[in-house]
Amino acid sequence: MNPIIFLKPVFKEMIWGGNRLGTDFGYDIPGEKTGECWGISAHPNGDDEIANDCYAGMTLSQLWDKHPELFGNLDGDRFPLLIKIIDAKDNLSIQVHPNDEYAAKNEKGSFGKTECWYIIDCPENAKLVVGHNAKTHEELADMIHEGKWNDFIRYVPIKKGDFIQIDPGTVHAITSGCMILETQQNSDITYRVYDYDRLTNGKPRELHVEKSIDVITVPAKSTEDSVKDTNDLPKNQWNKLIECDYYKVYKLVLDGELEFEQDHPFLNMSVLDGEGTINGQKIKKGDHFILPAGYGKVKLSGNMELIASAV
Ligand code: ZN
Repeated sequence: MNPIIFLKPVFKEMIWGGNRLGTDFGYDIPGEKTGECWGISAHPNGDDEIANDCYAGMTLSQLWDKHPELFGNLDGDRFPLLIKIIDAKDNLSIQVHPNDEYAAKNEKGSFGKTECWYIIDCPENAKLVVGHNAKTHEELADMIHEGKWNDFIRYVPIKKGDFIQIDPGTVHAITSGCMILETQQNSDITYRVYDYDRLTNGKPRELHVEKSIDVITVPAKSTEDSVKDTNDLPKNQWNKLIECDYYKVYKLVLDGELEFEQDHPFLNMSVLDGEGTINGQKIKKGDHFILPAGYGKVKLSGNMELIASAV
């Protein structure tokens, strides 16, 4: 049987990053402004090395190319998902992503980006930017061109354990103090709408105003339809948080044992809290791994919170 594939995350320093990936998750981070841990990634900007001895020296993208059988021989020239943990010490820029069609046409064949967030931690009364308040495309363009940010930006209240799906065309931003597990399409195409007039080395970061106006959905999805509370889901079973064209995401709070069958083409798993074992192998908070195709019976034991994803 093929082994569980363990990954060595790639870390990204960001102007808005902090140190909690080190202090809370125990990772060996590169600096005090570490914004992202790319826990399961085959993206060229951060292609994770495989930790297993049997795949020594290989990255996830190489494994995808050389051992398609591990991923159910899926069609597609790249590993389709990207799993990150984000530590936002400061606000992230307000942004939007294109869909596949727009990205293919305008971004050299790249994928678009659908993503979703699981709130690992956040301050009391935290709010995220999800959606906007423009009612028509004309009003949208006007608000953005005129910089009417207070009118434009829509905040939604969130708490630990909330789950938010961000479809392409959704204006969004993670705010200061939030730690989030992001499951997304394997793409890095982001259009920055507004960056709070911040300067990096004396200069503002590039904005993508016209592309943003092209792709933003008007009107935005309602606030109620945007946030899902996952805190009262039953323990000791996988609970599906979302199923869309690109991924399925599941949450498990384990207190004891769970046996299940891995019958997806592959199953990504990230341990967000606690520790335990998977088929006897030790796992703990901060571990990211992939159960390959045909893996079969899985036995989890311990006290853990996990997020999993499949295509
Ligand atoms: Zn995004």
